Amino acid sequence: MRVFKIIGLVCFLSLVACSKQKDAASPATTSPPPGRIEIRVTGDSSGGASFNEIRAMRYVKEIVALGPRPIGSANHKKVEDYIHAHLKDDMVEDDSFTIDTTEGKFPVHNIIAKFPGTKDGIIVIASHYDTNYPLRDTSYIGANDGASSSALLLEIANQLRGTKRDGYSVWLLWDDAEESMRLPWFDPESLYGVRHLAQKWQDDGTLKKIKAFLLEDMIGDADLNIEHEENSTPWLEDLIYQSATRRGYQSHFFGRTIPIDDDHLPFVQRGVPSADLIDLDYGYGNVFHHTTQDTLDKLSPKSLEIVGTVTLETVRALDKK
Ligand code: ZN
Repeated sequence: MRVFKIIGLVCFLSLVACSKQKDAASPATTSPPPGRIEIRVTGDSSGGASFNEIRAMRYVKEIVALGPRPIGSANHKKVEDYIHAHLKDDMVEDDSFTIDTTEGKFPVHNIIAKFPGTKDGIIVIASHYDTNYPLRDTSYIGANDGASSSALLLEIANQLRGTKRDGYSVWLLWDDAEESMRLPWFDPESLYGVRHLAQKWQDDGTLKKIKAFLLEDMIGDADLNIEHEENSTPWLEDLIYQSATRRGYQSHFFGRTIPIDDDHLPFVQRGVPSADLIDLDYGYGNVFHHTTQDTLDKLSPKSLEIVGTVTLETVRALDKK
């Protein structure tokens, strides 16, 4: 994904202004008064299963162990097979096509697992699983950028599997070719998987049924700070913050406000309520992002648990809307 650096710098230099923006987007009722002791809800207040962060972290390690996973590589095929192996008992759809880039032609594979619900409508939860193509000849493994969120979705699948949902259908999307073919970020040669799928779902009428598109990206950082992302839909961001607050995790959410170009954009542009759950402060000044320093030692199972729990809480809140 790409951040608008100039605006980010303005935010950095104008922290007061950014805080005001954040406060405007966060309902006053969800902010505790100063000095109030926060009590964490330890059980699952909604009757669902609990997110298993140990298992999710094992998935991160197993994906990273495959090595660099840029499109067109043998390791990329291995991670496709790895995801499919975890979904063998689920309803899975593959969206496969070929892209023609300045680096050549590449096969692209979106993987969609569908968990039906009783309500008419779909909630999509997405993560890209490719690693950065321009870094293909380095030891770059994308532990946070690609692996953490893909593993998160595998554990969410565990939570959804086996019972009919009393709510909207949930579709988990492992999307492909998110990363730009060149660095610095090059818009026309990035977000291939979601751009293809958004157009396909617009053409076949699926898009109208999507109630929310929740994107997960770089959510494993041990120092977790999910951004208040400006391209996201304000009411959906509010719902996420309220869900985080219900679980006692709001201190990890929306500490700063920045716009980020990411996989949610093709859906935002088509009017689908969308949110990007992303921590783009990965190391001081985001120093680990798109470097060989994006490794397992920077991650924490607790961060996976926080984002997984808040995502599932948000899904339940959407069910009630
Ligand atoms: Zn990336």
